Amino acid sequence: MKQLLGLTLFLALVINFSIGQTDYSKDTSLVFKINYNIQSFDDENDYRILLNSLNGFLKTKNQCDTSNAYWVQSEFKKYKYPYGDLFGIEYSRKYKSSNFYKPTLLQIINTEITNQYILKLAYTGPDTLKESTIRAIYNIIAVKQSDGSYQFKSMLVENTACWNRTTIGTITYIYKDNLNRELAEQANQLNIEIAKKFNVTPISIVYYKCKNPIELARIKGYDYWPWMYIDTTGGRAEGGNTIFAANNSEWFPHEFVHFYTPEVGMGLLRQIIDEGCATYLGGTVGKSVEEILKTTNYFYKKYPERDILYDLENNYRINGKMEVLYPVGGLICKLIDEKLGFEGFKQIYYETDFYKAIERVLGVKKENLADFLKNELARYK
Ligand SMILES: [Zn+2]
Repeated sequence: MKQLLGLTLFLALVINFSIGQTDYSKDTSLVFKINYNIQSFDDENDYRILLNSLNGFLKTKNQCDTSNAYWVQSEFKKYKYPYGDLFGIEYSRKYKSSNFYKPTLLQIINTEITNQYILKLAYTGPDTLKESTIRAIYNIIAVKQSDGSYQFKSMLVENTACWNRTTIGTITYIYKDNLNRELAEQANQLNIEIAKKFNVTPISIVYYKCKNPIELARIKGYDYWPWMYIDTTGGRAEGGNTIFAANNSEWFPHEFVHFYTPEVGMGLLRQIIDEGCATYLGGTVGKSVEEILKTTNYFYKKYPERDILYDLENNYRINGKMEVLYPVGGLICKLIDEKLGFEGFKQIYYETDFYKAIERVLGVKKENLADFLKNELARYK
């Protein structure tokens, strides 16, 4: 009897295995790999539909970051770029390839809600390389639709469902523990002042106050993202006028300015105006523009042989930390503002060349620009 029971159990396992465990890892129609020990669905058909929906999303997500048939549609209104973290995630700067990192579906995790699952995705580089290359491990939610197909949404809402929300003037703060109202009021005033500077009405900001980059990454859906362990304060301004602050503070002026900076020119010129305005009006890494200019002046006095324009064009980092773009951009935007006001940007809106733009607004030719910048920096002692 015992033997018969054992045989029945064995047969039941074999049958179950053969029904529920089709090996999709060899399916070449899928643009992602499947982890070998994934917990798939008992319902084979449902599982296949989920894989097809995920495949559809991963195949089309880079075509447009503001609409996708496989993503829950209401999220586009709310966040503008709801899968911004996955947009272009395949790109490797080091290997100069836009299709370097490839996705693997690591796991499907049940949630407390019926027909809603967490999908754990890993983006990794080719295993033919000698070095290990993991770009990120990221979670999204799959929601079964009435027609049986699946759509996806970000983990952000679920991950911050228990967080507090308080609106102070133009800013809605979303935070876990406590809010410093005084600082929040100051930030609101600053937002209004920045808007005045750019001659527009103040933007309504959604502000996630996180303790550190690890907490920030987690609420967005990351299990692993190198930045979360590299950055020590930081944060980011994202689409939908959303700030993710990792400095445990209500105060993040640099990121506020990014919502207002005019889209001037292209390439280096655009970067100079964007980061320059943000640094000029909001400082960076907790320091004012004056402090940053002092450090930069000191650095170029110490190393007079260094070519400041070469450093600017090649993303050189002063003392291995701050890119030259920030102080030089901050200085240039300050000089434009002092000479012409922010109206000065209108004179270079359609310029593409950085040096021609600077000659037009500041009257300095490219061959004299390095000396000019070093002389201006020398004022900050
Ligand atoms: Zn910035």
